[in-house]
Amino acid sequence: MKITVQKYGGSSVADADRIKNVARRVIKSQQPGEGLVVVVSAMGDTTDELISLSQQINPEPSEREMDQLISTGEQISSALLAMAIEHNGAKAVSLTGNQVGIQTDDSHTKARIFKIDSRKMIEELEGGRIVVVAGFQGINIKKDVTTLGRGGSDTTAVALAAVLNADSCEIYTDVDGVYTADPRVVPDAVKIEKICYDEMLELASLGTKVIQNRAVEFAKKFNVVLHVRSSFNERPGTLVIEEVEGMSMEKVVIRGVSLNQEEAKLTITLVPDKPGIAARIFKNIAENNINVDMIIQNVSAQGFTDVSFTVPRPELAKTSALLEKIAGEIEAGKVNVEEKIAKVSIVGVGMKSHPGVAATMFETLAREKINIMMISTSEIKISCVVRSEDGERAARSLHQAFELDREEE
Ligand code: ASP
Ligand code: MG
Repeated sequence: MKITVQKYGGSSVADADRIKNVARRVIKSQQPGEGLVVVVSAMGDTTDELISLSQQINPEPSEREMDQLISTGEQISSALLAMAIEHNGAKAVSLTGNQVGIQTDDSHTKARIFKIDSRKMIEELEGGRIVVVAGFQGINIKKDVTTLGRGGSDTTAVALAAVLNADSCEIYTDVDGVYTADPRVVPDAVKIEKICYDEMLELASLGTKVIQNRAVEFAKKFNVVLHVRSSFNERPGTLVIEEVEGMSMEKVVIRGVSLNQEEAKLTITLVPDKPGIAARIFKNIAENNINVDMIIQNVSAQGFTDVSFTVPRPELAKTSALLEKIAGEIEAGKVNVEEKIAKVSIVGVGMKSHPGVAATMFETLAREKINIMMISTSEIKISCVVRSEDGERAARSLHQAFELDREEE
């Protein structure tokens, strides 16, 4: 049986009217003799509201109870959507992660799927019913409910598309697709027609929020083509696909620009330049579950060096306290923190075959008199940390320098 998987995000099912809208779209897209699986997120800001409710009751709830609580949002939206579909005369059944047989590991609030038993889904599809699945959730071996991390309904959809060998996985959201930059920051940003998994992964981990990066990882691993598009109009969106030969040879060198204003920078000065010191600093930070992003170490002068790195801003206070302690232990100098930074990045597989991309980026920032504080690169990405107030201007000038506004022509 030919199967299609669709996923509707929280804003697409935010209220009764929007759920009815989704029901109409779903029924319209149903093809006779084919299977349709629809994954939904929780209505609007339900997940955030549940989290803040829990905070009023217990600031440190167990992760098991957290999952038990936040998974309810998707149970509500899936049942309501199934009802809406039935009200319009089609057959539907809603299923929780448990009923679908989504088995995950034990890591509550950020669980990973390891097995899906598709039998129940297939049975329902063969019965001619549209299967509406509560996204974001699974169960572990102990039969406790787990959730897949914020934005995890995307991962549910991609994983179901993979096990069902679906023809396509359509991700419906409130924007028309993936853009060359955030249109709120760069008004000239245009919708990207096609992007490869690796570019999408870089953009998603840099903060482009249209799709969860774990979902992209999954799609890449199982070669699921994603179509990110709007649930409010019929326009085609963005296809996320495998890198096809020639993609990096095209004239499009850079696929997108991203701006992250949610990090902070810490520097530890006069660090003794000896083997094992960096390991000691970062092991300590990792043990406290703090995700470090960019790291730079200066060349050593007289046996000492400065080490700077960035962390998510909400982790700044915790990291700085920790770093003060480590600085004492390793007999380093001061700890400096800088909250007002922005990270601007350019991403594109075309970088692999086009020299001079970094030079163009730095020249562009120089022309704008924007000072670069840190640089990091991967094969298909270059990021610069700049002052927070320069962030938006940096993104706009890079978007223009790489002619991203002309991409669709
Ligand atoms: N409702 C969950 C969240 O807000 C999962 C999702 O929307 O995909 O993170
Ligand atoms: Mg969401």
